[in-house]
Amino acid sequence: MINMEVQCPTCSARFKVPDTVSIATCPYCGTTFHVHSGEKSEEEHFFFPLSKKDAGGVLLKFLSRQYGAPADITGAKIKKKDLHWVPVYFFYLHGRSKRWPTIEEVMFIGIPAEEKFDALLAGYPFPIRGKRFFDESVVKKGHYYEPSLSKEKAEEIAKQTLLTALRGEASQESHSLGEVETEVRYLGLVHYPIWEVHYEYGEEFTGYVDGTDGRVIRAEYPIMGGARRKATLLAGTLAGLGLIIGALSLPIVGGWGFIGAFIPGAVGALAVARKGVVKKRWVSGVFESEGGNVHFKPLG
Ligand SMILES: [Zn+2]
Repeated sequence: MINMEVQCPTCSARFKVPDTVSIATCPYCGTTFHVHSGEKSEEEHFFFPLSKKDAGGVLLKFLSRQYGAPADITGAKIKKKDLHWVPVYFFYLHGRSKRWPTIEEVMFIGIPAEEKFDALLAGYPFPIRGKRFFDESVVKKGHYYEPSLSKEKAEEIAKQTLLTALRGEASQESHSLGEVETEVRYLGLVHYPIWEVHYEYGEEFTGYVDGTDGRVIRAEYPIMGGARRKATLLAGTLAGLGLIIGALSLPIVGGWGFIGAFIPGAVGALAVARKGVVKKRWVSGVFESEGGNVHFKPLG
């Protein structure tokens, strides 16, 4: 296979493609174009092909590596596995300040167009490459959604995202943004595969898996007894410590010393106990900073 160099008609990037292809997608901005003529593709409806990975198996294996997850969670029963073809508008964004040459943003963004998946996919790092022209026969095996958000509205959201990023960059450099030049290029509507997996471990839990590569977008899992026990034990120790200190100070300062020492111990115990009784936790293999349940911090 011989590689040939092509140039993207949108962002002018040069990259190599096999000489057997007639259509290519730019890895930098997502534009799909005919490699020989350099013309942008008129086709604007795409899908991402499904990976062969079993979403249920991938999810349980991922969960088994999470803090406090039961070791035998990989043996949990998969109750239901639904495939959703979620409509997403893709945009290439380029903006810069006319006043400050250092303030410039190039972004690639996907705006989910079905409300049901807004929260799940907000800010999701969609892949730029790998999409194919839409083929109805492929999406038959799953729930297919028409976009409920208009392309114009999505474009407005995309532009606002770009402006927010530019403003953020400006404030970091202690500048006011001033006038800007923006380019919002529509790359097409993509139907993106998302698995919704229901599994049973004592009760029913739900997880979402990226159908293109098996990444776990968001999933809930039970916290194992051991981790919970550890938290409860610590809570008990703190409460006990309060009692001991209180009892020791009793002869010296009288009854109030007892209560005074007990209260901080009890408050500490309550705080730890509250964490300890969290029986479920959310995790994500994509959004690292989110880290699932913000109330729960591993006790080590
Ligand atoms: Zn490009």
